[in-house]
Amino acid sequence: ATPTSIMVGTGRGAELGVLFRKGEALQLLKDAKVVAVDKTGTLTEGRPALTDLEVGTGFERAQVLASIAAVESRSEHPIARAIVEAAEQEGIALPALTGFESTTGMGVRALVDGVRVEVGADRYMRSLGLDVGSFEPTAARLGKEGKSPLYAAIDGRLAAIVAVADPIKADTPTAIAALHRLGLKVAMITGDNERTARAIAARLGIDEVVAEVLPEGKVDAVKRLKAEHGSVAFVGDGINDAPALAEADVGLAIGTGTDVAVEAADVVLMSGSLQGVPNAIALSKATIGNIR
Ligand code: ADP
Ligand code: MG
Repeated sequence: ATPTSIMVGTGRGAELGVLFRKGEALQLLKDAKVVAVDKTGTLTEGRPALTDLEVGTGFERAQVLASIAAVESRSEHPIARAIVEAAEQEGIALPALTGFESTTGMGVRALVDGVRVEVGADRYMRSLGLDVGSFEPTAARLGKEGKSPLYAAIDGRLAAIVAVADPIKADTPTAIAALHRLGLKVAMITGDNERTARAIAARLGIDEVVAEVLPEGKVDAVKRLKAEHGSVAFVGDGINDAPALAEADVGLAIGTGTDVAVEAADVVLMSGSLQGVPNAIALSKATIGNIR
């Protein structure tokens, strides 16, 4: 491509809200075979809400909600906000807590009124030596519904299964259809539960799912997709996405995301919409493909 065509393409991108931070990205995007997409905040709104709370025998719902909301009030995860908001809406006062600890990709814990409380993924409960099998029928249903199941342990006993649901952004389905029309495969990479991720992927016609990955695992997933399919574009919004954005042939940050993601990206989608991805790829094909 000539410097002039790059300039024209970059200018056209700016009009579409697609900011090329590196001219090279405009040249590379046309060769992308797979678009790998972070789920939370990219495909979805990133604003989950609490939908279900089922307590085990011997536990009281309001008390469980108060305990887990107290712990989550110290966490910055979107899941935490969903749980705290649910408690607020029910007018539940949050008890005092000490010794808060957060484990990335697993969950959170603290002492609430001196009692141990843990909230997190099934793998977190297993790491504590707790068997989540008693909630399996509920977990299976929640997963099928595309809701993310979490578990709560109180005083070392499994106390509840909790679910949050994060709405899919309105323009996500059309953006995925546009990527398919451009001949690309779409892959989802997420730290969320496997069944939940598969249900959402099926609804959206997503071709490949990599679920239950820790933040470092996103990089490995991008490496594997590159080895299998060739050039990979990765789209993400969060701090956790920065290494994967850097590893991909082209990294695209959703403009509403964190500064860290924007810094690591080659392209910034100012609109905050996934539709920016097919727009950017089509622009690359039009600019670089035709003018040589
Ligand atoms: P993602 O943002 O893709 O869900 P994370 O690595 O942030 O990935 O989290 C992975 C999983 O760890 C979550 O889906 C959840 O099950 C669990 N988790 C993380 N933080 C919390 C929290 N504050 N409260 C409950 N569960 C959490
Ligand atoms: Mg995200």
